[in-house]
Amino acid sequence: SIPLSFFAGIGGASKEGILIKGSNYLETLSQAKCVVFDKTGTLTQGVFEVIGVHHNELENAQILEYAALAECASSHPISKSLQKAYGREIDHSRVNDIEEIGGYGITAQVDGKSIAAGNSKLMKKLGITYYECHSAGTIVHIAIDGEYAGHILISDIVKPHSKAAVAELKKAGVEKTVMLTGDTKRVAEQVAETLGIDEVYSELLPAGKVSKVEELLSAKNEKSKLAFVGDGINDAPVLTRADIGIAMGAMGSDAAIEAADVVLMDDDPMQISKAIKISRKCIRIVY
Ligand code: ADP
Ligand code: MG
Repeated sequence: SIPLSFFAGIGGASKEGILIKGSNYLETLSQAKCVVFDKTGTLTQGVFEVIGVHHNELENAQILEYAALAECASSHPISKSLQKAYGREIDHSRVNDIEEIGGYGITAQVDGKSIAAGNSKLMKKLGITYYECHSAGTIVHIAIDGEYAGHILISDIVKPHSKAAVAELKKAGVEKTVMLTGDTKRVAEQVAETLGIDEVYSELLPAGKVSKVEELLSAKNEKSKLAFVGDGINDAPVLTRADIGIAMGAMGSDAAIEAADVVLMDDDPMQISKAIKISRKCIRIVY
């Protein structure tokens, strides 16, 4: 039978906007010793601003238009920022054959031209020679009909509470914090350094995030548990693989909410330590 205090714990947590899907997760959560974060949208706002456009031959506005149109069907934070910078209504009849490649970017037909918008991995995959950009920020390379057209430099900022949230986890006895991201090493290391994250792994594809979590799982002892926190996009497999999967922001993807064991209603990373503390308190009452 399930002790009464478990119900109280789940009920109390839900009043704080923390949805715990079962009493077994309460126990696992109370033993979290390693917390692994996704970067974009979890520790950062996931609201990129376009800070520069570098082109070969076309005008900046045209590069941005192709990128925004090609990305029109994506719910990725990068896509949203490109739509915002473009600032105009998308004429969907101009766009066909959209393909989103997780961890790479997008390919689509726009006005009958083949557009690719994504990171250097995407350019390599398509055999396109691209310009190595050394600016600090996330880079979206654009190619048109197989020719490199330029890149858009975008930048994201850390959430106001991310640093305090990481410190609070340490105070609550979490031994290791880790950040995983598909973004570049440079961006990743800068964010991790700012936030005081112990370990950082960058330029990972969605499957690479799963392997990394598996490695971390096999490196720790049975008693200490690993929690993964993600905002949803491409995160479902890792949420499932972790001892405890925490989906952040109920506005996140349905797939993530489905795959998660704990759902945080808002996207404040302080909620993670709060959830752990609530679980510990209720486990103490039981045992
Ligand atoms: P994170 O690991 O930071 O949450 P993702 O795994 O969602 O990021 O994406 C990793 C990288 O793949 C991004 O930094 C970007 O370079 C590229 N990428 C993914 N989706 C898109 C997209 N829709 N448009 C352009 N680039 C993308
Ligand atoms: Mg992500």
